[in-house]
Amino acid sequence: MIEYTLRSPIEYLKGVGPQKADLLKKELNIFTFDDLVHHYPFRYLDRTRFYKINQLQPEMSNVQILGRLINIELIGQKKGKRLVAQFKDETGELELVWFQSIRWLEKSLTVGAVYIIFGKPTLYNGQFSMTHPEMDLYNPAKKNIGNLSLQPVYSSTEKLKQFYLDTKGIQRLQEGLISWAVKKVEESLPEHILKKHRLITKTEALLNIHFPTNQQDLQTAQRRLKFEELFFIQLKLLKNKLLQTHKFKGHIFEEVGDNFNIFYREKLPFPLTNAQKRVLKEIRHDTHTGAQMNRLLQGDVGSGKTVVALMTMLLAVDNGCQACMMAPTEILAQQHYSGLIKLIDGLPLSIKILSGSTPKKERRLIHEALENGELNILVGTHALIEDTVKFKNLGLVVIDEQHRFGVEQRAKLWRKNHLPPHMLVMTATPIPRTLAMTLYGDLDVSVIDELPAGRKPIKTLHLFESGRLRMFGFMREEIEKGRQVYVVYPLIKESEKLDLMHLEAGIENLTREFPLPKYRISIVHGKMPAKDKDFEMQRFVRGETQIMVATTVIEVGVNVPNATVMIIENAERFGLSQLHQLRGRVGRGGEQSFCILMSSNKLSNDGKLRLSTMVRTNDGFEIAETDLQLRGPGDIAGTQQSGILDLKLADLTTDQEILQEARNSVIHIFEEDPTLSTPKNALLRNTLIQKNPGISWDKIS
Ligand code: ADP
Ligand code: MG
Repeated sequence: MIEYTLRSPIEYLKGVGPQKADLLKKELNIFTFDDLVHHYPFRYLDRTRFYKINQLQPEMSNVQILGRLINIELIGQKKGKRLVAQFKDETGELELVWFQSIRWLEKSLTVGAVYIIFGKPTLYNGQFSMTHPEMDLYNPAKKNIGNLSLQPVYSSTEKLKQFYLDTKGIQRLQEGLISWAVKKVEESLPEHILKKHRLITKTEALLNIHFPTNQQDLQTAQRRLKFEELFFIQLKLLKNKLLQTHKFKGHIFEEVGDNFNIFYREKLPFPLTNAQKRVLKEIRHDTHTGAQMNRLLQGDVGSGKTVVALMTMLLAVDNGCQACMMAPTEILAQQHYSGLIKLIDGLPLSIKILSGSTPKKERRLIHEALENGELNILVGTHALIEDTVKFKNLGLVVIDEQHRFGVEQRAKLWRKNHLPPHMLVMTATPIPRTLAMTLYGDLDVSVIDELPAGRKPIKTLHLFESGRLRMFGFMREEIEKGRQVYVVYPLIKESEKLDLMHLEAGIENLTREFPLPKYRISIVHGKMPAKDKDFEMQRFVRGETQIMVATTVIEVGVNVPNATVMIIENAERFGLSQLHQLRGRVGRGGEQSFCILMSSNKLSNDGKLRLSTMVRTNDGFEIAETDLQLRGPGDIAGTQQSGILDLKLADLTTDQEILQEARNSVIHIFEEDPTLSTPKNALLRNTLIQKNPGISWDKIS
């Protein structure tokens, strides 16, 4: 006889077989017994509660009713054929309808008998009915009526349902599997952690997550499994962090030198905000310790991250190192480059830009200057990561709008130097705390939580189509005052054709309203060649055009302080963080700025909430929290490609407390035992390795 294990292929499970196994693999990624054990219910039907017929409401989901079957009748012809029954309790009557398995039901149901029925009531012509209810003959001798109090509901698919693997079918498989499987499952958390955090064993948790007998047991099981899930993510992240600080020696930026000082005293065009000063202090501290800095700098749009980055780069140069700054798009890299050149004008520094469009010859010169150390600062795009780009002594990497770069890419940059460079990653998309802990748990976090003095909060307005003329009038007034205006259109892949049509119609409309020669319009969208985009962008930056019509390519980073109006067309189609990013393009100078959200009259509830949130607040963190509530972590900008968020059970929107507890627990463990080499942590070490094959204590993984 074959001895089955949890790794046995799913086709060997009783009731599966090759055909169903194929489907389970394709549709649900279930390959082994173990995979099925970890296919948890996504909700539970409460069968502890009974309803009376006169309590039914149209919006109810599945309910359970005790009553008598008083009549049963086959009606209709052919396709319209159905079985209809009357069901009655002391408060009223209900119609039950079946379209399938009619013959069998007609035989097996007993008129006059008492049943527990279970299903979703629907209101039709003032009368409630229930389609395909579950029918259980009521047996007063059986104590636990309805047997399962909380019935697990498993996700399934149309294809699986055709092969009887609907939620019920999967439940039957689980019934056959779980009680055997839990005897084979190995505990993944050591005793001391279970005890300290009052967690039940894995065996118990698995039993109760599939077949809970009450709400309390279910919650205890969920807490245990969520904790485990979050715990091992933190263990991996913090292991990396530990390695960074202990294993990777970093450059020591001993002194604040001439470049930094002269810049600070003579070039800086404004006093730094307290928040900027504080962050610089944190960076000074980090770069002094002898360990490699890995810092995430969060700051709302317009909070002045660039100058902090520049001063950090000057610090690096003053200490004999080179620095580079990487931006996600060509436009941004270009903008940083021209901004930096202006700021450091007169300092004895050499700075260059490298991107995909840098000509070959120029590229070769840059490579040379980098390798022989003549070049101090390099600004660029992804092109910086390429292997051909080598530095003489790279001491600092700044990554702007970093949520687009993964851990892997960061690591690639480290390897560009014998001592890994300090890393400063900047993001203007405020990240809710739980997400930051999970996505960037291996980084230290600085926050610029203060806008430069004199900034006036942007006024935001929501208008429907009927307000368009008012909007044009307002644009004219602002342009009259010498200000500039953005008009942004959505351009989303799925509806690209239609969007392009809207964009073109919008441009036509605008050229009519704002004719040459008095008005000039720049147009930028993602379909244009980079060169043209750049050209148009630059015209707007230099103030040669008053209106910039664009798709979301201008979303991040672009800085034109004279622009005071941001108009967003079809605003309801943008996500919250995107709207906030776009709004951040204005309000960057001293003038009062405005954001006008144009939308159609038809708005979904979510759409309404997004727009009203924008009108209500300018606070990026508040907006990020709302965004997280609305969309869930998987859809937050930039997190999609991060495997870290493939959470089975834990939910970063609601499980903050468990996450914090798990993280604290991991911190504590590493403080005591950084390499997990004591016997009591052996299990942790093994589980970590099992969950992350190839993980190593010598490199970041
Ligand atoms: P972000 O954090 O969005 O990258 P930037 O660094 O582009 O913001 O700064 C936005 C604008 O604010 C720039 O025009 C910059 O020169 C200006 N700025 C930055 N710091 C200060 C400050 N302390 N006082 C006044 N203006 C500042
Ligand atoms: Mg910026």
